[in-house]
Amino acid sequence: MTEVLNDNNCSWINDLNYRTNIKTLKLNDECEWLIIGAGYTGLSAARKLGQLYPNQKIILVDAQLAGEGASSRNSGYLVDTTLNDGFTSNKQLESYKKKADIYELGINTVKKFIHDYQVECDWNECGKYFASSNINDEKNLSNFSKTLSKLDFEHYLYSGSELSKRLGTNFYNIGLYTKGGILLHPGKLARAMIDVLPKNVFLYENTSLFNWSKNKDFIICNFKNGKINTKKIIFATNGFLKSLGIKSNYNFPITLTASMTRSLTNEEFKSIGEPKEWGVLPVRPMGATIRMTKDRRILIRNTAEVHNPFKMSKTDLEERSIKQKIGIKKRFPQLPDNIIQSTWSGIVSRTRNSSQIFEKIDTNIFAAGCYNGSGIGVGTLFGEQIAIKANNEHTKEIEIIESRSKPTWLPPQPFLNLGVKARLFYERLRAKSEI
Ligand SMILES: Cc1cc2nc3c(=O)[nH]c(=O)nc-3n(C[C@H](O)[C@H](O)[C@H](O)COP(=O)(O)OP(=O)(O)OC[C@H]3O[C@@H](n4cnc5c(N)ncnc54)[C@H](O)[C@@H]3O)c2cc1C
Repeated sequence: MTEVLNDNNCSWINDLNYRTNIKTLKLNDECEWLIIGAGYTGLSAARKLGQLYPNQKIILVDAQLAGEGASSRNSGYLVDTTLNDGFTSNKQLESYKKKADIYELGINTVKKFIHDYQVECDWNECGKYFASSNINDEKNLSNFSKTLSKLDFEHYLYSGSELSKRLGTNFYNIGLYTKGGILLHPGKLARAMIDVLPKNVFLYENTSLFNWSKNKDFIICNFKNGKINTKKIIFATNGFLKSLGIKSNYNFPITLTASMTRSLTNEEFKSIGEPKEWGVLPVRPMGATIRMTKDRRILIRNTAEVHNPFKMSKTDLEERSIKQKIGIKKRFPQLPDNIIQSTWSGIVSRTRNSSQIFEKIDTNIFAAGCYNGSGIGVGTLFGEQIAIKANNEHTKEIEIIESRSKPTWLPPQPFLNLGVKARLFYERLRAKSEI
């Protein structure tokens, strides 16, 4: 079992009030339903099960504080589309459409949650940009534009001068804007999901699952201070699925780091043209994601790596923070050097073909995860739908989710890490100007 620990530097988390109602498993317990992992996926599964079975006991556990894994550490893009190269053949277009259909369901699920519970999470339907400083990326973007046109996604191609007016930086030379994306505060969304957990959901935090086994009637889960016997279990640990032996040959963890600046002063904000809130995703996979928040903070994420142990030391984070300072400086040379307020890491899960995991893996055992960079919407959707699937029901959402191809097989270690590292290295080189 991998140790699950995080730094406590994340600005999104530090924006929130401290919680005081934290319970840890101290004695043995028993339940109908156990959910491992309290990020968007586990919280959404628990919420749905609580609604479906108001009289049954549901336990949700997390190794750290609920919601404080990747779910509060991400960049806050609720995406309608993601960029890939090509899509010339009909088959590729078809598979892109399947992916986009899942994103759309994800957006609708989060939207409904926000509406039903009156959640305040800095929701902004301002769309998003895919932008590059490298004019050679024009071809990628025009191919992408053709794909989006075929699927009726409203979008616009912008030149450097137009981007500079909108973003307040002269860094980018070409960009594509899609109208459908949403920007939000990821920590506020996760916190709202904790606050509205139904009464029959018992949340144990700082309660790490060490190992589990199955006998005839129960699944037995061992934690530090006790064990839980459950009839049914849902694994919602995303980047930690592999470490718990779930679909081990189909997913692998990647560690990302991000930094956030303090709010810009009036003068600094004026010096960059006082842009409205925006979010830019890179055209090349390893380029920087960069965002201007509504309270004038700049967020940057420009690393993705295989990192063992998952948790980064202070020195590791300081090294990444320097890269992020350079990334901000390249885009906003007029801003002072030391405006980064926090740098943090988070674990995501990837599959080889970018498909997600949504499965009954054995009798009474279910798993959902592996959203690559789109877990806000898809995680919320998959959490709710895996609960419905575990309840033996079928929905149109499940049909759409399951019509997508399944994750493909990955080679064992050490070949896997070597392959992933080589690929990341190559992508980093290709995206050198964009980091
Ligand atoms: C820096 C960064 C930027 C990102 N940007 C975006 C973005 O802009 N848009 C987007 O959609 N997605 C983004 N993502 C991805 C997104 O955050 C994830 O896909 C999403 O949070 C997954 O949610 P989850 O609930 O499945 O997993 P998590 O939030 O990772 O939750 C899993 C939980 O399982 C717990 N756990 C693990 N092992 C155990 C164990 N043994 N016992 C008990 N509990 C355990 C962990 O503590 C964790 O809280 C980003 C991620 C990072 C790190």
